[in-house]
Amino acid sequence: MKYLINGLEIIINNKVLEKMTKFFGLCKQCETGGILLGKFSGKKKIIEVDEIYEIKANNSTCVAYKRNVDIAQKIIDRRWKETKGLLNYVGEWHTHPKMTALPSQTDILTLTEIILKTESILPGTIMIIVGKNDELTITVGSRESIQSFLFTNMK
Ligand SMILES: [Zn+2]
Repeated sequence: MKYLINGLEIIINNKVLEKMTKFFGLCKQCETGGILLGKFSGKKKIIEVDEIYEIKANNSTCVAYKRNVDIAQKIIDRRWKETKGLLNYVGEWHTHPKMTALPSQTDILTLTEIILKTESILPGTIMIIVGKNDELTITVGSRESIQSFLFTNMK
């Protein structure tokens, strides 16, 4: 799938969305999530999402998903080496089993923090959220702006 969000062309491999829907279905009680890896070009204003990884949360409560940073970094480093620098971190994903897929205030804060760390490398940072009633949002953020697209009936 291809989208134009926040001035960037976002290409998402169908397998990524299929896996995300699967993770959502396996974890109906608590939020789960992880990282997205892919390729990007700041010049062409393109981000391509190729791989998705689920990273179990540190806390076992269901309040909000907070991923294990060390595990995430290990996966990013490993894939970067294995693909000779082709695959990089491009963003985050998580689920909202009982809520709309729209980003919460906490999600926007989290994304803002990540943008500050990644803006020197990435043309934009992606956050994908799968929510109840087959909703999905793709949010693309940069220092200037954050823009979300809501998709319904994702099946
Ligand atoms: Zn959220």
